[in-house]
Amino acid sequence: MGIQLEETKAKNATLKRCLKGCSGQLRPEAITRVFRRTGSPVEVILEDIPAEVCQVCGRAFFSQEIARGIDRILFPFHGKHRHIPDLPPARVIVDFDKAQRKDAA
Ligand SMILES: [Zn+2]
Repeated sequence: MGIQLEETKAKNATLKRCLKGCSGQLRPEAITRVFRRTGSPVEVILEDIPAEVCQVCGRAFFSQEIARGIDRILFPFHGKHRHIPDLPPARVIVDFDKAQRKDAA
């Protein structure tokens, strides 16, 4: 809930248009996002996330696979649902691509 993440609600991950009301088109980009969670002192900076970014409003969309990858990376820091790990205040920088490859190994 507190995670600031905009992901596409569409089932079709190849969606190339922005939301209704925006004339923008989506273009693949590797983006950096800061993830904070209410109640957690840890700020996670994810670099190199593959996303589709609207050229008009700047909204970023992630495929389901990428969204799951983000969840996996954030989990040790932000937990899930009502459970938030008891960690000291920290700022963590994670390279999405490297983290994914490490996960697959
Ligand atoms: Zn847009």
